[in-house]
Amino acid sequence: MKESYLGVYVSPLTYEGIITEIKKRMLDKKQSTIIAVNPEKVMTAQKDPKVKALINESTFQIADGVGILLASKLKKGKITSRVTGVDMMARLLQFAKAENHPIYLYGAKKEVVELAAKNIERDYKGISIAGMTDGYEQDEAALIERINDSGAKMVFVALGSPKQELWIERNITKLQNVLVFQGVGGSFDVFSGTVKRAPALFRKLGIEWLYRLLSDPRRIKRQLNLPRFLLKVLIK
Ligand code: UDP
Repeated sequence: MKESYLGVYVSPLTYEGIITEIKKRMLDKKQSTIIAVNPEKVMTAQKDPKVKALINESTFQIADGVGILLASKLKKGKITSRVTGVDMMARLLQFAKAENHPIYLYGAKKEVVELAAKNIERDYKGISIAGMTDGYEQDEAALIERINDSGAKMVFVALGSPKQELWIERNITKLQNVLVFQGVGGSFDVFSGTVKRAPALFRKLGIEWLYRLLSDPRRIKRQLNLPRFLLKVLIK
């Protein structure tokens, strides 16, 4: 059963739970989409029905932000840990490697996606990268043809939100052989090593937001969504 915060769905499944479901859906040739949910997106969805629909119509809404976890605790929900976009992608890469599903990387700057591909090939030995395209490619029709020709079964889209989700929505029916789509935001920057993740201690304590705030104080505007979100969930 999905949980709902301010009208936005979140799946209580763990990484393993999602992979199990995806495996089943792939056998049935059903396409799946994965979207990361955090307080910022839930707040955007309050003002923008299109964003709300994009989230709610995805197959899996993962609990990316610590704010979602807190909201679930406040409301006695079942979400016990975060399912981050970047770790979900890592699990999917493992799965793609184990079951020989070719992957396609679309998004980020040219040197970033190329470096991410190189590192993925090194860390997931034997994985098949069917192709890659940077996120500044303008010819969408040509890109769709390239992905179809590549034989990819999973596409990771790193254009930021909601751009990546809109791209998936626009093109999913044109990519019938692709069975898994994940909008991964800045994950290629992480896989490429261009952007470092927060140190382990911050991650363990669930305060990556604090690390990001310290390294980029301008994020305060975006981060104020977290207390606003929790307050709204509480008084609802
Ligand atoms: N990006 C892109 N094309 C665009 C705009 C952005 O490929 O037209 C890439 C950008 O290079 C970066 C990622 O999208 O790698 C955005 O990451 P961000 O962390 O901003 O996304 P979020 O997860 O916050 O939505």
